[in-house]
Amino acid sequence: MFYDLHIHSCLSPCAEDEMTPNNICNMAVLKGLELIAVTDHNSCMQQPSISEAADKAGLKALFGAELQTSEEVHILGLFAKLEDCMMLQKWIDTVLPVIPNDTGYFGKEEIRSGADDELIGIENRLLLVSLQASLEETVDKIHECNGRAVLAHVLDRENSIINQLGFIPQNLNIDGLEVKNDEQKKEILQMHPWMNEKDENWFTDSDAHRLIDINEAQHSIEISLYQELWGNAL
Ligand SMILES: [Zn+2]
Ligand SMILES: [Zn+2]
Repeated sequence: MFYDLHIHSCLSPCAEDEMTPNNICNMAVLKGLELIAVTDHNSCMQQPSISEAADKAGLKALFGAELQTSEEVHILGLFAKLEDCMMLQKWIDTVLPVIPNDTGYFGKEEIRSGADDELIGIENRLLLVSLQASLEETVDKIHECNGRAVLAHVLDRENSIINQLGFIPQNLNIDGLEVKNDEQKKEILQMHPWMNEKDENWFTDSDAHRLIDINEAQHSIEISLYQELWGNAL
């Protein structure tokens, strides 16, 4: 299945206004994708609308968020079931510091729904912050809610684990790593001799903040791996 499991909607302040649930799903279909996940910063509040829009577009969706831990590391929590993802939201609400969003500076945080992507809610808390939870606690919580934890953009950007910690701790119970290409994979394996290429799950997502950046049909996941990670809910 061609996939893109790291896309931001208009709920992420840094994403373009065009990243509405229907626009994302329609663009994913146009690009030939079969499986997507919209992962907003520290929030699952767009997920019910994504579920509806994906169903309408005939697209398979996982549900999730891109969480920023107290170490400022970005990690994706990905769920097969919407209700499990919304269970994670309950936890996020307890560890998200309440800092009002300055929309002029950071951008809007909008929840949209329905056929016309109607505005149905605004997140007033700033989402571009670190949760009051460590990386380990965050991974544990994702698992407790039946999700899978994937380290985001492992070698890139300020908030990658390599930039923040310098290495991936061996005892961190992650389910996958996000890389851009094979060179990055090699680099990570060289840095961590205890890792085995075949034992890890590697993902290449877009981290799109604009429609045009959503993955083309280039990266696919085997059905067997999908089922191993997210069960039989195909
Ligand atoms: Zn990120
Ligand atoms: Zn992202």
